[in-house]
Amino acid sequence: MRLLLVEDDDHVATALSAVLARHGFEVGMAHSGQEALQELLHSELAPFDVVLLDLGLPDQDGFEVCGRIRKLTGTPVIMVTARSDVRSRIHGLNLGADDYVVKPYDTGELLARVHAVARRTAAAEPEPAAGPGGAGPAAAGERADDPAAPLVVVGPVTLEPHSRRVSVGGAEVQLTRKEFDLLALLAARPGVVFRREQIISEVWRSSWEGTGRTLEVHIASLRSKLGLPALIETVRGVGYRLVPPPAG
Ligand code: CA
Repeated sequence: MRLLLVEDDDHVATALSAVLARHGFEVGMAHSGQEALQELLHSELAPFDVVLLDLGLPDQDGFEVCGRIRKLTGTPVIMVTARSDVRSRIHGLNLGADDYVVKPYDTGELLARVHAVARRTAAAEPEPAAGPGGAGPAAAGERADDPAAPLVVVGPVTLEPHSRRVSVGGAEVQLTRKEFDLLALLAARPGVVFRREQIISEVWRSSWEGTGRTLEVHIASLRSKLGLPALIETVRGVGYRLVPPPAG
């Protein structure tokens, strides 16, 4: 697995890349946002499987770098941040980061997250198109789900499983991969309470406890993006359920 480590602190970068190499990663290094973007642009022959992005970079704001990486490539991004407040995490996830790790982190936690993100991405990878000519513009984040999958409609919310599009009252809403998966899971059975562990295991394919906070962040982000805070109800101590707005 190829990992691009974006970290300006040489000490941290050296130590971390040694750990990652010991765990079988081929590690590319970038010390600034500019370097990171260049590495990604020139990695077509051996693309990176995941980017570990420190938010505190000397040249550019890490959030900005994250947004630019997302425009450039479908490579999943894990943000590494000392900014532990929920608002900046939501901001990062809105920009298309796949996950985040808060400094100081435990190496085991970091590895678990890297593996989880890489696994998810591999599982979501579309089959290579068999069309003539080959390379069209890559539609990052889209995957070839069953084209015959029917629309899912819950109140004003419409999900298109095939194109992974979501709209509210006809207006398209941009969701991250995980936000879509989460919403699709809840929308499959409106009114039914999904337990936290169940959601984590189905959406994140992990039973790892630390994911609980990630779930909360995604729920908060979904509520805010959909503009329907009451749509997803928190069932205290249990989990979440989708509450369709009353008809009419
Ligand atoms: Ca830094």
